[in-house]
Amino acid sequence: MQILDGAGVSEQILQGIRVETAGLLQQGNRAPHLAAILVGDNPASQVYVGSKVRTCESLGFSSTLLRLPADVPEEKLLEAVRGLNEDARVDGILVQLPLPKHISEAVIIHAIDPRKDVDGFHPVSQGKMLLSEPTFLPATPYGILLLLQHYGISPAGMHAVVIGRSHIVGTPMSVLLSRNAASGNATVTLTHSRTKDLKALCLQADLIVAAIGQPRFLKEDMVREGAIVIDVGINRIPDATRKSGSRLVGDVDFDSVAPKCSWITPVPKGVGPMTICGLMKNTLQAWKQAQSKPE
Ligand code: NDP
Repeated sequence: MQILDGAGVSEQILQGIRVETAGLLQQGNRAPHLAAILVGDNPASQVYVGSKVRTCESLGFSSTLLRLPADVPEEKLLEAVRGLNEDARVDGILVQLPLPKHISEAVIIHAIDPRKDVDGFHPVSQGKMLLSEPTFLPATPYGILLLLQHYGISPAGMHAVVIGRSHIVGTPMSVLLSRNAASGNATVTLTHSRTKDLKALCLQADLIVAAIGQPRFLKEDMVREGAIVIDVGINRIPDATRKSGSRLVGDVDFDSVAPKCSWITPVPKGVGPMTICGLMKNTLQAWKQAQSKPE
């Protein structure tokens, strides 16, 4: 079994972005600029946004963090998004999900200018992805493709089972793995909570991507010898041995599954850092596209 080291690979890719950004700044360009909107005080969201902002700083990017209260009306949030759309100094916009129940995530995501949609959630980005046209790929599946690519793992010809069909992870992952592209060409089974006999499907898989949101869901008896397992899940569970009283685990029961795998991502330090990597690559790309736009 070998570890797919998301933290290490991410740092290597980020270092490339850092060097490229330093070159751009030396040539007198303004820095790529990512604006993040955080609504409310969900602790996990605060951690995710904080880490994205810190990564921007470490790369030489500019960043703006707009904090809005949990009870902010949808219209106010829309105004904030529109303001960032119109701000020529902003290249990328991300609205940290989930949003409070009274706000429609779809309405907010639709309002983001697709040219600044560095999370790759806008229907224009997702439509272009479906058509294999150049676009911003959703950051998590994009990060997973970068990770596989780094290790020279081609999904071509594999049977990939994706567990979970969210618009931000499972569904785009299934599209990307099945595309006629160097990073695709797998035969994909997209599964969800209504799937019958998930275990039998998983046992046929060369590659499993688990994006369910249930701690240690994928057990050893669901994985065949030699499979590649990508664990997207981030779940906080109680742990009295930790000072914080809790720890993070994935959607995969790592200790029992790992010995059967050829490759596996850990949690933390697997897919999480690669997601940030995907986001930063998209932000740099948005900056480049903004520079080449006619005045
Ligand atoms: P969602 O809650 O949006 O989707 C979960 C999916 O899992 C749904 O499609 C659901 O099916 C499916 N599911 C739930 N239970 C089962 C089951 N018993 N069998 C099969 N399928 C099941 O989650 P997300 O995609 O947003 O996130 C998934 C996990 O990944 C979470 O832990 C999240 O925190 C993490 N995450 C990590 C990121 C990272 O950077 N590492 C980025 C984004 C998310 P149905 O559609 O039928 O309800």
